[in-house]
Amino acid sequence: TSSMLEQDGGESVKVCVRIRPMSQKELSAGNTNCIEVQNPQLLHLKQKNSVRQYAFHQILEENINQAHVFAETGVGSLLESSLDGYSCTIFAYGQTGSGKTYTMAGSEERLGRADYVSDETDGIIPRSISYVWQRMNSRNEKFFVKSGFFEIYNEQVRDLLNPSSGVKHCRWNLKQGFFVEELMVVDCLSIDDMIAVLNEGMRNRKSGSHELNADSSRSHSILMTYFISEIISEEGHSIKRYGKSYFIDLAGSERLKETQSSGGMLVETKNINRSLFVLGKVISSLGDKKYRGLKPHVPYRDSKLTMVLMDSLGGSSRALMIACVSPAISYVEETASTLNYATRAM
Ligand code: ADP
Ligand code: MG
Repeated sequence: TSSMLEQDGGESVKVCVRIRPMSQKELSAGNTNCIEVQNPQLLHLKQKNSVRQYAFHQILEENINQAHVFAETGVGSLLESSLDGYSCTIFAYGQTGSGKTYTMAGSEERLGRADYVSDETDGIIPRSISYVWQRMNSRNEKFFVKSGFFEIYNEQVRDLLNPSSGVKHCRWNLKQGFFVEELMVVDCLSIDDMIAVLNEGMRNRKSGSHELNADSSRSHSILMTYFISEIISEEGHSIKRYGKSYFIDLAGSERLKETQSSGGMLVETKNINRSLFVLGKVISSLGDKKYRGLKPHVPYRDSKLTMVLMDSLGGSSRALMIACVSPAISYVEETASTLNYATRAM
């Protein structure tokens, strides 16, 4: 039902902020804390001569562990809607080193290793995998699960499950809308199959960036999962529903530095990470309450990432953005820029 799909205030994007603990390096450099959490929806950012107040749907302080992040951000209810045949997208946004990969997947050192075993530092993706499997088993439907993993680097799509296959193209057709052509999409019959997809992609993302001498902080990684469910009606007809979940570890937000903010709008300049920039425009236009019912032009076609996500942002789809920040004063400018981007998404 439509009321079930509405998020707290009917927003299309739920925005949470996660503050990671100060690192040893930041502590030994004598950093002080520039973020003061007032309550679970409100924080103060202390800059040189000013204090700025920010409001979000949920603020996760540094002592909130991975299990709590999964629970508090409401990922389960998004996944539930995917099992019901809708699309959902979960993004991690933030500067390099702010905790995006840790939040989405878990510790980068651990994932992708041959001896990976699940533990309490698992991030949203492995937790989501076990959640959906548990839910699918308890439902009265038959599910088919398929999964693909790719990255967008410099506006080029690379298959993380088949990295030697070269650059992939985005195509459009009536049935699917935009899709990545010739992407490897594997059938997943168990939790282990899906975990294997995650690990394989994580491993190829790491080794690929070494080989190409590429800077992995510039790439967006996208794990895509289809949930196709089948119920047989009383008359014996097969009824299929096609749900989808995207898990996205975005490029480091410092890649947007080449842009300037003017009157709350991003202005594009050269060298910019186009997908990160256009994503900001797309989600802020979705959340624009002025245009409820009569939406302005949403520039989905302006970047690869937003093209791929076109039918999964807006409408009956749901999205969660987790903006990751460090509390260290030395990053206060980056943190302000992340909080501003996240604010525009609401
Ligand atoms: P990003 O992907 O944004 O570049 P990472 O997720 O790799 O950043 O995090 C940078 C470092 O900080 C990693 O060593 C990671 O394990 C650690 N880290 C990030 N968030 C947390 C957290 N909430 N608790 C403990 N360690 C964290
Ligand atoms: Mg990372």
